[in-house]
Order: sequence, then C-alpha cells, then structure tokens
Amino acid sequence: MERPPIIMTNTLLFALSGLTALIAVPWYGLSHGYDLWQWSCFLLLFCYCGISITAGYHRLWSHKAYKAHPILQWFFAIGGALALQNSVLHWSSDHRRHHRHVDDNQQDPYSAGRGFWYSHIGWMLREYQRERYHDYSNVRDLQSNPIVAFQHKHYLALTLATNIGIPLLLGLVHGDLLGMLLLAGVLRMVMTHHTTFFINSLAHIWGNQPFTDRNSARDNGILAFFTFGEGYHNFHHLFENDYRNGIRWWQYDPTKWLIRSAAWCGLARDLRSCPEERIEQARLEMQLKRAKAKLRKEEDRELWQALLQEEYDKLSQQIQHYYASRKRLLEQRKRTALARYDRLKLQLEYRNLRDGFIASKRNWSRLLAGIA
Ligand SMILES: [Zn+2]
Ligand SMILES: [Zn+2]
Repeated sequence: MERPPIIMTNTLLFALSGLTALIAVPWYGLSHGYDLWQWSCFLLLFCYCGISITAGYHRLWSHKAYKAHPILQWFFAIGGALALQNSVLHWSSDHRRHHRHVDDNQQDPYSAGRGFWYSHIGWMLREYQRERYHDYSNVRDLQSNPIVAFQHKHYLALTLATNIGIPLLLGLVHGDLLGMLLLAGVLRMVMTHHTTFFINSLAHIWGNQPFTDRNSARDNGILAFFTFGEGYHNFHHLFENDYRNGIRWWQYDPTKWLIRSAAWCGLARDLRSCPEERIEQARLEMQLKRAKAKLRKEEDRELWQALLQEEYDKLSQQIQHYYASRKRLLEQRKRTALARYDRLKLQLEYRNLRDGFIASKRNWSRLLAGIA
C-alpha cells in the first residue's frame, strides 16, 4: 500500500530541533558552558509549557474537567503556543477523537496499536488522516470560546513570537544570547514535545492497568514525574472528566495541585471528580478478573471461583453502602438543626459500615494473595 505524503513542515521542525538538541546543545555546553541562570530559564519555561498543555489543553479544554477564569485561560493559551503543539482547537479535536476511538487503528489519530514510533511522533510526519485535518465538529463548544478562537486564528504569530521572542529577550538580558537560545529555546521545546508525546506512546505500552484493560492505557509513576502527573493514564482513560489523574494524595500530579490551588484563589471552579465508589468498584472488578485468570490451571477451580465471587459480591455491596452512608453523614453536618438522636444514629451506622468494609477489604486482599 502506498504511504501518504510527508508533512514537510513537521518533519523538518522535529528533525532540525531534535538534531540541534542532540548535537549543538551539548557541544555549546562543553565549549562555553551554561550557568545556573540559563538552566533556571530552561526549567521555568519547560514547566510553563508543560503545565499549559496538561492543565490547559488537556484537562480544561479537551475534557472540561473544570472551569477557568479568563486570566488562567490566557496564561495557558500563550504557554500552549510556546509549547508548539498546534492550537487548542486542533489539539483538543485530536485528543477527543483519541479517547472516543482509543486503539482503533483507523480512527484514533495516534493509536498505540500501530506501534511506538507511530503513536509517539510518526502520526504527525505523514498525512495519515488528511480528510479530518480541518474537521472541528467535535470541538464546537471550544469554537465559541473567544480566547481559544483568538489563539487559533493567530496561532502562527503567537508561536513565533513566544518561541523566538522569549528566549531572545532572556538572552539579551543575560548576555549569552546563543546559549539561551539553545537551552531555553531549542532544548526546552524538544523536551516539551517528547514528554507530551510519551503519553501517547509509552503510557499506552509501559505500566499497570489497575482500573481497566478494555484499552491499552497504563498507569506509570515514572512517566507521571516527567509529564506533570499525566502518567496515570489508565485511570484517565476510564474517568476522563476527572480533574485529577493521580487520585491518591501521594501520587505525583502537579497539574491536579495547580488546578486545586487555582480554585482556592478563585481562578478555577466546578472541579469535576468521579465518585469514589465507582473508582473502588472499577479497581475491584479488575482484581476479580485477574484472579479468575490465574485460577485457570487450579485443580479446585470451581470452588475457588465460587469463593472469589462470594467475597466480590459482598465487597461490592459494602462499597455502595459505605459511600452512601458517608455521603449522608457529610450532608447532615450542613444541617445543624438535625436532632441529636438522628445525628448519633447516622454516626453509628457509618462506623459500623466502615469497619465492615475495612474487614472485608482485608479478607479480599488475603484471598487474592492466596491465589497468587
Ligand atoms: Zn491515551
Ligand atoms: Zn485525555
């Protein structure tokens, strides 16, 4: 089959910037050296680009996981242009299609099923889906956003002004113009590109699947570290409108922390998060599925399966009851007029359910360990 034509702009951009980062940046470092000032500018701009993509392009505009004040939207729209990953409109259209048709080699723009190279960068080097390049039918809601529309209309000017202007200005202030252009300009752009691209490639290949195996997305703490928290991709593909990707407090997700901090300052509101019982239930289902698969060779397979199913059903029910009771308890705190007797009754009910739930979870873990 004939391969689609090469997109020259993208190919030249990725090749030249990549080669410069690989050859010229270390060469200049060895011959002239970089100082702390230059490394700080590199890091600051890298973080600005990265967070604009994750908190802006991805969670705000592609998934509508929260609402943002125009100041924050401008901040992300400029940072996204600096990241050189196309306009919000284009990026979000591709990304919504990716979620809708994940792993479908024809419809998913960067389907992991077509291999590492294709999902990482190959999909942008040739005109694989030319017919839908200007089809924005899945981002109509974003077209009516004046900031998104402005950024789309003036994308080229914005991206040139930020990518050349900011490193140039910093270089003039610093004194070493070439060094700053290489570090805060080229290396920063290449690093931003590839860390984002890793989410489409590596995060669909390397890691665990604690929530679902119906698609190739994985959770990977190492990737999360380099991608401002986006490495928890298995969770994200199942609960895509949640403003968090790493749901545990200790999971490294600076994008989630930034959104929450913005909400405290009044710059973000209506943060969406999935009910905990649904998350627990998804995790439980995956554990049951894995345990059943392990039982295939077991002699008393049917007995084990019955025991597993029994414990699973019990725990599923407890998840529903426990979280419903917790919700009732939280609501009653707002109703100060509630009688003392009713309040105590709710508290006792909650504690009983919680203790039962914890005990069942322990039993379930023991059973899973027994099977392993
Ligand atoms: Zn994905
Ligand atoms: Zn997404």
